[in-house]
Amino acid sequence: MTFVVRILRFFFWVLIVSWGISLLRRLLTSVGVADANRSAPIDVPNNVVARKLLRDPVCGMHVAENLALMERSGGQNVYFCSEDCRNKFLGEPKKFVANA
Ligand SMILES: [Zn+2]
Repeated sequence: MTFVVRILRFFFWVLIVSWGISLLRRLLTSVGVADANRSAPIDVPNNVVARKLLRDPVCGMHVAENLALMERSGGQNVYFCSEDCRNKFLGEPKKFVANA
């Protein structure tokens, strides 16, 4: 009879442990899903911005196209991060053209 009790006890513990593992796994996957949802909206704009980054020839900074100030110079469009950089460029365009 003790043998049967031992087997029952064994199965009882196996059940408890497997239930605990599945609960843990569910917790971990729910956390993982939450992380994926949190990072997704960050990844998408990053990709969009990366395709539209333009280099400011004055300070060397990369600026998103929709935020950049554009100036036509020597038949090509030049983009600036700020009014300040644009003014520097317009003051000495030749100095920065090689940088563009
Ligand atoms: Zn700049």
